[in-house]
Amino acid sequence: MIGETGVVYRLSMPAPHTHLLEVACQVKDVGAPIRLVMPSWTPGSYLLREFARHVQSFAAEAGDGTPLCWTKLDKNRWEVEAPRDGVLQVRYTVYANELTVRTSHLDASHGYVNGAGVFMYVEGREELACMLQVSAPEGWHVTTSLSCTDASFRAADYHTLIDSPLEIGTHAIFPFDVGGVPHRYAVWGRGNLDPERLVRDTQRIIDAGANFWGGLPYPHFTFLLHLLPGGQGGLEHRDSCSLQADRWAFRGREYEQFLSLVAHEHFHAWNGKRLYPAALGPVDYTRENYTRDLWVVEGLTTYYTDRMLRASGVITPKRYLERLGDMINRLQTLPGRHRQTLADSSFDSWIRFYRPDENTSNSQISYYQKGALVGLLLDLRIRRLTANRRSLDDVMRLLWERFGAHGMGYPEGALECTAEEVCGAPLSKFFDASLRSTAELNYSDELTAVGLVLTPRAGAGDVQLGVQVREEAGRLRVTQVLACTPASRGGLNAGDELVALDGLRITGTGLSTRLAERPPGQQIQLTVFRRDELLTLHVTPEAVAARPLQLKRASNPTSLQEAANRSWLYLDPDRETD
Ligand SMILES: [Zn+2]
Repeated sequence: MIGETGVVYRLSMPAPHTHLLEVACQVKDVGAPIRLVMPSWTPGSYLLREFARHVQSFAAEAGDGTPLCWTKLDKNRWEVEAPRDGVLQVRYTVYANELTVRTSHLDASHGYVNGAGVFMYVEGREELACMLQVSAPEGWHVTTSLSCTDASFRAADYHTLIDSPLEIGTHAIFPFDVGGVPHRYAVWGRGNLDPERLVRDTQRIIDAGANFWGGLPYPHFTFLLHLLPGGQGGLEHRDSCSLQADRWAFRGREYEQFLSLVAHEHFHAWNGKRLYPAALGPVDYTRENYTRDLWVVEGLTTYYTDRMLRASGVITPKRYLERLGDMINRLQTLPGRHRQTLADSSFDSWIRFYRPDENTSNSQISYYQKGALVGLLLDLRIRRLTANRRSLDDVMRLLWERFGAHGMGYPEGALECTAEEVCGAPLSKFFDASLRSTAELNYSDELTAVGLVLTPRAGAGDVQLGVQVREEAGRLRVTQVLACTPASRGGLNAGDELVALDGLRITGTGLSTRLAERPPGQQIQLTVFRRDELLTLHVTPEAVAARPLQLKRASNPTSLQEAANRSWLYLDPDRETD
C-alpha cells in the first residue's frame, strides 16, 4: 500500500498521434501551498534539457473539484495554493516527440516514457513511495521494471519512478533467465534482429558481469530496445536500460557494436547506478550536478565493456586487441587531447560533451574514451606492480564492498585512494598526469606488463589535409578543421563548401583519392564557397606524422608477462585460444 502522503500519478494517451501525454497527479494531506517541479535533466545524461518546455495546459483543483490558483516560480516550478479538503489534483500535458533514449516519444505506433521529462515531483515528497496508473490505447501493453500490483505500478520513491522508463505499445517481449534471475528484451520496431541469438549472447555478457562482481544486484532486469533507421545510443537505469539500434544492425561488425552497447549499459547496473559518485546521488534535478569522477562512471564502464565481451567469449582476444588499438588511435589523433584534462572533461560535461560543435575535436576529449584508456593503463600498472596478483578488478570490487553494496555514493577521488591501497604503491604521479594534465598517456611502459607493444601499422602513411567533410545533396561541406593541420594553416573553415581541387570539381570520394595520388608537400589549390562567396585557397597537404598504431605481442615475453597476458585476456585452458 502507498502511504497517505505519497503521490499517485495517472498517465494517459487518448490521441497518441498528437504526441501528447496526459499526466494527472494526486497528492493528499496538503495543508499549505505546494510546489511541483519538472526535472531539467535526466540522470545518466549530463545536460540540462529543460523538460519543462514541453509542459502545456497545467491546471490544479482540490479533491472536490474546486479550481485552485497556481503560479510559476521559475522555469520549472509551479506553486499551487493549499486545497481546503487537503487533496490536490494537478493535470498537465507533455508534448513527447523526441525519439532518443533520454527523452520521450509518443505516436500512433507506441509510447516511450523517460520519466524525468514527464513526471513532476512534489517538493519535499521525493522520498515517499508513489503509484503510477497507465491508461493505454486498446491492444497496447506496458513494459517497465516497476513492480505491478492490481493494475498499478509502484515505485519506492520518486527517484525510482523516473529511473524506470516505460515502453507502451504492441512491442515484442523476449524473456530469458540468467542464474535464476528473470530478464527480458522489449523490442519496438522491425529489422534483422535474431532474438534467439541476441538472447544467447546477452546471457553470456550478463554471466560475465555476474562473475566479475559476484552475483547480479537486481531482482529482474529489462532491456528496452528501439529499432529505427540510424538508431544508436543507450541509457542506464537500475533495473533496466534503454537501447536504440539501427534496424539492420544485427549482423557483422554492427552487431558486435550493438553487443558492446548491451555490455556497457548492463555494466552500469553496478558501476554508475549502484556504485556512483556522491555528487550524483541524491541529485538536484533542477541544475547541474558537478563531479570530476564521470570518467570513473563512463570511462571505466567503457574499459570494462570490451572486457566483458572478451570474458564472455563474444569477441576473441585478437579482436579485443584490435578494438583497444582503435580506441588508442582515436585519442591519439584528436588535437583536443592537448587542451582538456580528463578531470575537466568530466566536470564540464554539462556544457561541452553533449553539445559538440565544429571545434570539439580541437578543444575536448571524451571522458568515455580517455577514461577507458586511463582504465587500461591503471589496470596494467597495478598488474605490473603487484606481479600480476592484483588488478583494477580488485579496486572496483573493493569500492563496491565499501560503497555500492551499501547504497552509498563515494567521495571524489575514492577510486584513486582505493587503487593505491590495492596496488600497495603510490599512484599520485600516475593520476596527476592522466587525470589532471594533458600530458600524453604513456602506453609503452604499462603494456609491457602483459607482454604487449604498441607499434605502427604496416603500409605507407596517408596524405592528410586535416578536415572532416560531409556530403549534403551532392555538395561537399567541411564539418571540422583540425588544429595544426594543412587545412587550418591554409585557411579552410568549417562550413566551407569544397568545389574544386586544382580547378577540377571534387566529390565525396574524389577528395581522398585525389589527395592520395599526390606526393606530400605539393601545394594544391582549393576552390570553396564560403557564405556564397567563391574563394581560392592554397593548401599544402602533408604526410600523416604518425601511422595508426596496433597492439602486438612482444617478441620475448618473460614467463610473468606471459602469465599476465593470459589472465588479462581471459585465456584460461577452458577458453578458446584465438
Ligand atoms: Zn555509459
